Amino acid sequence: MHKKLFIPGPIEVAPEILQAMATPMIGHRMPEYARLHQGVTTKLKRLMFTEDRVFLSTSSAFGAMEGAVRNLVGKRCANFCNGAFSDKWHNVTLACGKEADAFKVPWGEPITPELVESALSTGKYDAITLIHNETSTGVMSPLPEIAQVLKKYPDVVSIVDTVSSMSALKIPVAELGIDCCVFGVQKAFALPPGLAVFTASQKALDRAKTVPGRGYYFDFLEFAAADEKDNTPSTPSISLIYALDCQLDRMFAEGLERRWSRHRELAAFVRGWVAEHGFGFLPAEPYRSLTLTCATNTREVDLALLKKRLGERGYAFDDGYGKLKGKTFRVAHMGDMQLEDLKGITSEMEAILKEM
Ligand SMILES: *Cc1c(COP(=O)(O)O)cnc(C)c1O
Repeated sequence: MHKKLFIPGPIEVAPEILQAMATPMIGHRMPEYARLHQGVTTKLKRLMFTEDRVFLSTSSAFGAMEGAVRNLVGKRCANFCNGAFSDKWHNVTLACGKEADAFKVPWGEPITPELVESALSTGKYDAITLIHNETSTGVMSPLPEIAQVLKKYPDVVSIVDTVSSMSALKIPVAELGIDCCVFGVQKAFALPPGLAVFTASQKALDRAKTVPGRGYYFDFLEFAAADEKDNTPSTPSISLIYALDCQLDRMFAEGLERRWSRHRELAAFVRGWVAEHGFGFLPAEPYRSLTLTCATNTREVDLALLKKRLGERGYAFDDGYGKLKGKTFRVAHMGDMQLEDLKGITSEMEAILKEM
């Protein structure tokens, strides 16, 4: 039995997308690929509100996240950490041999503009990493306010992960001044895993030119040179790029405004359910994610058992990430999910909770 995915990634994939992946194969040095590549990157620029270069990386998100620090950190990096993925990004930065400091806040809290200001005002850093939507804790940090701070530091290259937020709300990459915006496609984009997208501003490309040891597979300058010919440095996952093309068309067919408002409605529904059923929230109200809700297990129910029972009924459920396992549970409301889907899992949860 296929369990319907309500975990925060990978997300349920639409049948139409799976169909697109079955498109007969083409060679990546054939004109057919160049047309596909050009179409996809043009649509991505429109979705992300930027004219910067957009690159396709055949890797999970962390491939491009590692590539970004390898290419863009010259002097020293400030890694802002408020959960499992951002903590790991700091370790990845160090593993790439970079000088870096972690600015940590407790799990469940956002990265604030004040914290970014206090780090950058030291003058020690020429790059930062930040996760817009920390999927481990369901926290969305205030990107527009943080972007205002970044504008005061034009020599700092900003690397922002939008893995679980891109397309669910407006993230105007150029207006925010994000130099490198990175996401994998298996979360907010609801595609099968294996592909990541990243942008690079002129400032980012200029920085990369000055940074040694960029390696080959994620060398931004290799990506830029290949992109001139609507191509990638090495063989891309063409089937996933067909899927991405199909998904971008579906997004524009839905309408971006409508997609954003659907996500607001889904978030409101899940938050309402959580509050009504006597659970709490890990993040404070203004920082609750629009794409997943991280509830605290204030009723002290046996989450492992709830997960098991939901599994028997055909639902994949997440009972907390890492050190939050058992203490929190997360319900994803990203990708192509509709209100009906969430009503499905929440009514099953209600029935199971009554029996427990
Ligand atoms: C899932 C996730 C990642 C890691 O992605 P991989 O595709 O597994 O490398 C990174 N950042 C965020 C915010 C995520 O949710």
